[in-house]
Amino acid sequence: MEDCIFCKIVSGEIPAKKLYEDDKAIAFEDLNPKAPVHILIIPKKHLATSLEAKEEDKGLMGHLFLTANKLAQEKGIDRSGFRLVVNCNEDAGQSVFHLHFHLMGGRFMAWPPG
Ligand code: AMP
Repeated sequence: MEDCIFCKIVSGEIPAKKLYEDDKAIAFEDLNPKAPVHILIIPKKHLATSLEAKEEDKGLMGHLFLTANKLAQEKGIDRSGFRLVVNCNEDAGQSVFHLHFHLMGGRFMAWPPG
């Protein structure tokens, strides 16, 4: 989608520190990390928010989840623990309107989140 920063990362127009890529998804380091491990996992398909995921996207959603698990294991935060976050719309603080999972770990995280 035009003017979507994450679509531009998918197309290679904007650089990113890519950690994973396949035909459906990519993962890259967050530009402004909030934890020692802070990775964004995104579908290549443009979905502005998690609310746009439809029945046909069920497999894709599962794929993003399993990709997060794989990266958590690769980064060695699977045993210590990690958080997977999807911010949706304004109150949650969503700032980039292309669906993304935040994979965060490597430090203790308080609950509830602020
Ligand atoms: P959210 O607030 O949930 O929409 O999260 C958007 C995230 O994208 C933030 O954590 C930003 O630091 C991150 N971000 C924005 N632009 C880039 C970029 N060009 N490369 C990597 N991460 C980015």
